[in-house]
Amino acid sequence: MVEETIFSKIIRKEIPADIVYEDDLVLAFRDIAPQAPVHFLIVPKKDIPTVNDITEDDEVMLGRLFSTAARLAKEYDVDESGYRLTVNCNSDGRQEVFHLHMHLMGGRLMQRMG
Ligand code: 5GP
Repeated sequence: MVEETIFSKIIRKEIPADIVYEDDLVLAFRDIAPQAPVHFLIVPKKDIPTVNDITEDDEVMLGRLFSTAARLAKEYDVDESGYRLTVNCNSDGRQEVFHLHMHLMGGRLMQRMG
């Protein structure tokens, strides 16, 4: 049994979020503490805690995370200027919410990695 997070409640619309995209597999909404002018979280509707819990059954959904990122980048006009997609895992990756999610950040020059 997977432990629920705040994102499960957002998916079920039990708590509010600024939703920018939704379909059968994923939901995307604005990060509550944005680190860039454009900062969305793209989350699977299925409760998957971390990247470690992904299986082959999730491959269609994982593709949808990326196609949603591309769609939103275009819609919010950062596709040409560029953006960063990040997925954090566990403590060294600084994951805070244990429901798989992809950050889409754009609208400013990102710091170099590392
Ligand atoms: P992580 O470090 O797990 O990759 O990132 C979790 C992200 O979720 C953080 O950027 C944080 O600001 C965001 N976040 C945490 N709680 C909420 C919430 O209740 N609503 C929204 N929209 N974002 C949240």
